[in-house]
Order: sequence, then structure tokens, then C-alpha cells
Amino acid sequence: MNKFDYMEKHGYEQIIYFYDKTTGLKGVTCIHNTTLGPALGGTRIWNYECEEDAVLDALRLARGMTYKAAAAGLNLGGGKTVLIGDANQVKSEAYFRALGRYVQSLNGRYITAEDVNTSTKDMDYVHMETDYVVGLEGKSGNPSPLTALGVFHGIRASLQEQFGNDDISQYTFAVQGAGQTGYYLIKYLVEAKAKKIYFTEINQNHISRMKKELPQVEYVKPEEIFALDVDVFSPCALGAQLNDVTIPLIKAKVIAGSANNVLDDDEKHGVMIKDRGILYAPDFVINAGGLINVYHELSTYIKEKAVRDIEKIYDRLLDIYKIAKTEDISTHSAAKVFAKNRIDTINRLQANYIKR
Ligand code: NAD
Repeated sequence: MNKFDYMEKHGYEQIIYFYDKTTGLKGVTCIHNTTLGPALGGTRIWNYECEEDAVLDALRLARGMTYKAAAAGLNLGGGKTVLIGDANQVKSEAYFRALGRYVQSLNGRYITAEDVNTSTKDMDYVHMETDYVVGLEGKSGNPSPLTALGVFHGIRASLQEQFGNDDISQYTFAVQGAGQTGYYLIKYLVEAKAKKIYFTEINQNHISRMKKELPQVEYVKPEEIFALDVDVFSPCALGAQLNDVTIPLIKAKVIAGSANNVLDDDEKHGVMIKDRGILYAPDFVINAGGLINVYHELSTYIKEKAVRDIEKIYDRLLDIYKIAKTEDISTHSAAKVFAKNRIDTINRLQANYIKR
């Protein structure tokens, strides 16, 4: 891969490599676009097969963050850090403090947070060296219930669009995955008196928790979840669950859940879902609740304010569905158009010089 060609093609601003001999910290930060504000994106640790894979992952994830933040109405750009190594071996106070010093050296162009294989505790070490870190212990708290809350409002918007009525009590649901987000989503659906909810899981502890706390929610086997005769299919497990095999099975008229990268192929499967008359809530728009929540840490964190912003996912999805209809494109493509429009408009606004 020629990195400069790739950067030019997708509009990247910066790639930063760093290596700290004392702690073994080795990684890459990618900054995709900072038109709207500082690039925010978590730090993940992964045992990449080669350096090239690490850089590609950071590039891809940073660009995703630009769209996610833009579509969420936040004044943030997209960035990501990947650290190369085995998470069970490399972690220490010094390792994360070394990371904090590199983050600090970017002087606020990039803000980090936890991600795969890093925790709020690790970020507390980063915080010893820099203020450019969010998602700290005792601040905005566990993002999962707030991600689930955003998904709940996104489901309501999608029902409104597809059936002209957003009253949860009139509909049936199939939720794939009752982990951090799926569990809370199911709780919101139960509270809103959903007509019937099915769920599936592969983790025995999560199945037992559901059976104990919410016995009215019916368990089905993982392979049965797609073809259930329900109104809403809610993927809250892994990515790539919507593909050539599963899309033809789906009977639901709405697909809306928390899972990231749930379309195996954004273009192809976005269109395939559209052609089947199913309304798909784009993942990076409907699952932005956690990001919106953590964004509020950058000023004084007030939960009610964060929740009000998360509720706006409802109207944002309706705007995106309107673009999809007008331009006759998939909702996933429409969400990208929506995000790019916001970046371009704010960019043009900044062309007008004012002294501050
Ligand atoms: P999680 O690991 O807590 O929950 C996922 C659950 O899905 C697990 O309990 C797992 O056992 C189950 N699962 C995995 N494969 C399955 C299968 N084939 N059938 C049934 N169940 C299966 O993760 P989470 O935090 O709830 O995240 C779920 C998705 O949402 C991920 O794609 C994640 O990237 C995305 N997401 C999460 C957040 C957040 O705030 N946690 C924010 C944005 C996006």
C-alpha cells in the first residue's frame, strides 16, 4: 500500500508512528479529518500480523470516527490509535503513561479513549500525562446503557418511518446478543411494553441473567433469530451479520441495532436490504449514544444534557431516511451523504474570516 496515495484518496490529514524503547509501546495514531474539531477515537491493542495491518486498521477506524461524529452532530473529527502487541503482556502503568505523553505531544489535535483491549483504568494512567483523554473512571460512566438508549430512540424513528407509528407497544422484536448493549436495549423495550421480544445469545451467563431478570423475553437458538416473524430485527452482537446468507432470511421490516460494521459489504448489502423493502438504521448513526455521552466529558458532564443529545438520534435518522428516499440510495449511503454534507458546510463557513 502506498500510504500517501491512500491518504490522498480518502482525505487523511496525518499518520503518527511512535515507539518507546523503555516500555515497548509501539503504535500508530491516524487523524482522518479535523474540520469539525479535534479527532476523537479510542486506543486499541491488537497482536497484528504485520505493521501494514495495524496501519490499515487505524486508517479505516479513524475514517469511520469522522463520519460517526459528524452524523452525531458533534464538533469532533475522526482519529484512532492502534498499539501493536499482546494485551495480556504489554500493559503497565508506564506503558499507558508513555502513550499519554505521545497524545499530549499532539497538543489537542487528537483525543483518546478506551477501545478493544483497553479499559477506563488504563485511561486513568494516560490521564496522568495528558488531559486529551475521555471515558475516565467516575466521569461519564459506562457508555453501554447510553448506546442502548440511542438505539431505542433510533428504533422508534425507524418504526415511525416504516409504519407511521413509533409506539413500541404495538411491535415485536428479535434481539441478537444480550451483552452490554443488547441487555439494556431489551430492558428499555420491556419498559415500553413491547408486544413480544425474542433474544438469542451464545454466552451462558448472559442467557442466565436474562432468564432470571426478564423471564418474559423468549430465548431462541442463534441460527433461528434471523427468520423470526417479527417487526424489528436488532443486531447487538458482532459485525458482518447482514450478508448474502442472512439478508434473504429476514422477515422483519426494520433492522436497527447497536452492532458496528454489521453490513458485511456496506454498498452491496445496503442495497440488498433496500431492495427487499426493509428499512436499515445505519450502524454508525444509531449506535452513537456512547460517543455522544463521552463527548460531554469535554465540558462539564451533566447526564441530562447528554441524554437530550442522544435522543436527537431520532430526528437525525428521519433526516437520513429522507435523503435515502429523495436520492433513491441505501440508508447507509444516505448517512454518509448526511455526514459529508455537515463537514462540507462547516468547512465553507470557516472560509469566512473572523477575528476571535
Ligand atoms: P458485548 O460483547 O457486551 O455483547 C455482545 C453479545 O453478543 C455477547 O454477549 C455475545 O455473547 C453475544 N454474541 C456474539 N455472537 C453471537 C451470536 N452469533 N449469536 C448470539 N449472540 C452472540 O458487546 P456490546 O458492548 O454489547 O457491543 C455489541 C455491538 O455493539 C458491537 O458490535 C459493538 O462494537 C457495538 N457498539 C457497542 C457500544 C457500547 O457502548 N458498548 C457502542 C457502539 C457500538
